[in-house]
Amino acid sequence: MTQLKRRDFLKLAGAAALSAAGCASTGTPKARVVVIGAGFGGATAAKYLRMWDPAIEVTLVERNREFISCPTSNLVLGGSKTIDDIRRSYGGLEKYGVRLIGDEATDVDSGKRTVKLASGGTLAYDRLVVSPSVDFLFNELPNYQAAEKAGRVLHAWKAGEQTLLLRRQLEAMKDGGVYVLSVPLAPYRCPPGPYERACQVASYFKKAKPRSKVLLVDANPDVTSKGPLFKKAWAELYPGIIEYRGNSKAVDIDDKTMTVKLELDDVKGDVLNVVPPHRAGDIALKAGLITTNNRWCNVDWRTLESIAVPGVHVLGDATLSALAMPKSGHMANQHGKVAAAAIVALLNGQTPNPNPVLTNTCYSFVSDTEVIHVASVHQWNEKEKTVTIVPGSGGVSAARSVQEGVYGWSWAQNIWADMLS
Ligand SMILES: Cc1cc2nc3c(=O)[nH]c(=O)nc-3n(C[C@H](O)[C@H](O)[C@H](O)COP(=O)(O)OP(=O)(O)OC[C@H]3O[C@@H](n4cnc5c(N)ncnc54)[C@H](O)[C@@H]3O)c2cc1C
Repeated sequence: MTQLKRRDFLKLAGAAALSAAGCASTGTPKARVVVIGAGFGGATAAKYLRMWDPAIEVTLVERNREFISCPTSNLVLGGSKTIDDIRRSYGGLEKYGVRLIGDEATDVDSGKRTVKLASGGTLAYDRLVVSPSVDFLFNELPNYQAAEKAGRVLHAWKAGEQTLLLRRQLEAMKDGGVYVLSVPLAPYRCPPGPYERACQVASYFKKAKPRSKVLLVDANPDVTSKGPLFKKAWAELYPGIIEYRGNSKAVDIDDKTMTVKLELDDVKGDVLNVVPPHRAGDIALKAGLITTNNRWCNVDWRTLESIAVPGVHVLGDATLSALAMPKSGHMANQHGKVAAAAIVALLNGQTPNPNPVLTNTCYSFVSDTEVIHVASVHQWNEKEKTVTIVPGSGGVSAARSVQEGVYGWSWAQNIWADMLS
């Protein structure tokens, strides 16, 4: 399913061998930057660091063999796209001189400024970028992991194998069955993602098994993003298919009876898609980067440098989001660029831009073709000492449209190219 192309495998294998042997690239680099995670934040940072200062050696560590996008992965569940449509190679980064290492970073020694790899190698850095996204707080749902291992509950909140498994479960479900989608309390990655997913599954049911139901149980009191637009789409496109319940936090799973236990009652389903609450990824925890609620990494938004560990920059979903800043791929891409510019400045003895601007647009497919968006602009606010929304910026779609469907799919192609090509 996630077959690595032979050419890409040779590149990865070559890079890994290079690392294990501890070889240096030709010439003496101005400085060494190691980036952990080749997703929306990390791949962008690695590419832009090399574009903006080719004298810096950039090593990118990624455990997955290929990039599979979370944005638009809900369309695979709906059946209008395949996993191949949302899969890309990391090979495009080679032309920028990024050294790609197919491995897992298992530890960081911020005193010695080194990163340990699962294969046994060690990488030294002058500055480190960490963009691992999230891992899940499974302890908040005690029976989750056993049920997940048995394939009785899935999150599909990291695109790839679980996306395909969930699609197969939906295909195998009888007409008249119930698909339960459980949403954790915010903050979670991609605020509109669960509501888009409900639309996509409902769109599939409407065509293929119209007596079936989507039961959306949300720990939040109400839809957390584009609420009126989603609710209008549910009522007009999927009447009788989607049922929404707010204030419905999942506290455990009983996979024998296919039950999601909620704080106040229980719900049963034929397919259980429970998204557990998240925190910054494991490597951020090991590196001592988590600063807030045992979950998130606080950074200086002008450089994305950790406030806990000097010389380490944290990007994307792992950060303690500023007010009204979504955990999105678009935003992680912006983090990557702000961090790359700041690191280039710092390594060249210059002062980073004191006033960076970050933008965000999240498109959601409410059907195969129709999309709604939310957009915002965020800027460093010297008075508040954080980034805040630029007054009057952003907004949401007036109505869902096919025209925005074209924009939404183009957005995905463009951001994948910006990160990886
Ligand atoms: C269903 C769904 C729909 C979404 N839709 C949208 C959307 O429409 N628009 C949008 O902007 N955002 C969307 N998002 C959110 C978006 O996917 C994330 O916000 C984005 O991926 C965050 O980027 P990141 O760099 O923090 O993490 P990621 O892009 O997830 O990258 C993290 C990478 O780090 C790697 N990694 C982690 N730890 C290690 C380690 N120790 N060693 C080596 N590699 C490691 C992982 O394998 C991964 O490749 C969606 C998310 C979901 C789940």
